[in-house]
Order: sequence, then structure tokens, then C-alpha cells
Amino acid sequence: MPSHFIALLFLASLAQAPRREESRYHQTIERVLTLLPKRPAQVVIVDPNQAGAEIRGTLLRMEAFIAKGGRVVYLTSHSGALQGALKGWSLHEHILASIIWHEMAHIDGADELEAQRREEALWIRYVMDERVDPGDGMRYLSGLKSRRSRDKNVQQGDAVLTLKGPLITAAIAVIEPTAPLTKR
Ligand SMILES: [Zn+2]
Repeated sequence: MPSHFIALLFLASLAQAPRREESRYHQTIERVLTLLPKRPAQVVIVDPNQAGAEIRGTLLRMEAFIAKGGRVVYLTSHSGALQGALKGWSLHEHILASIIWHEMAHIDGADELEAQRREEALWIRYVMDERVDPGDGMRYLSGLKSRRSRDKNVQQGDAVLTLKGPLITAAIAVIEPTAPLTKR
């Protein structure tokens, strides 16, 4: 199982990303969002290679992140989970859904331990409901659980980084879920 690295970022200057036309990303993300108990406000896919050199390295190290105070879930285009989901692989669609769920927990104010707990709870539900292969499901779950022993210093938050460049240039797909939640 590919391990995934998720970080909570402070984005220094984040402009509103533009809407782009329908794409394979939209179809894939819409399919993945149906696996979630509720939908995120917006999903934006960014291509690290289109980002400024000062943030490219950071983006290449992660699969998903949020901007502090924002309600957007960002996914990186090179993410293994996203790439598998784009190919229609069910396991990867479920992994991507659980990653998005982790970021949504942060958006709701959860710290890293709580976000991991919610991510694992959703994954366990996929396994119990036999939405994923039991062997794959248990292997991936043990990978999720091992994060806490591996990352001893990640207790109260993710790697918190500061990005100075605008992310706008790197946005390659903006997905507004078809049934957005009302604002809280
Ligand atoms: Zn996190």
C-alpha cells in the first residue's frame, strides 16, 4: 500500500481558483464523493509542476491538504490514490474518499489525531461493508494505524508549512459538488 502524507498548510496568499470545464477529474471526484457520508464544499486538484518553484517540492510530497481557515479540499494531481481512482480502480477510489474525509475533519477543526481517527473509522466501515477487498482493506488499515507510531512528533497537528506563492496557477480542476451543503 502506498503510504500517504497529508499536511495541513498555511497558504499565505490563496486566490479564488477559477472554474474549469468538465474533465475526467470531475467525473472521478463526483464518483468518489458518493462514497462519503457528506460532501466537501469544494475540491480543487492542483498540479505541483504548474506551481511556483518555491512550493513545488512541498506539493510533490503530499496527496491532499487544506488551507488554514478555508473549506476547500486540495488534492495533488500526482497522488497515487487519485491516479488509481482516475483509472476506475475501486480500492483507490475508497482510499481517496478516506483521504478527503481526513481533510474535511481538519476543515471542521479536528486536530491530526482526530482527523486520523475519523479517516480510520470511515475506512473500517468500507471494510465491514465489504466495499473493498478484505485483505487489501486490512493491510491499508494497518498502514493507517502505523502512522502514529511512525510519526511520534505528529501529535497535535500535521506538518504545518507556510506557502508564500499563490496556488491559483496550479489549479487544474475545480469540482463544485452538485449538491453543496448549506453554509454553517
Ligand atoms: Zn491531517
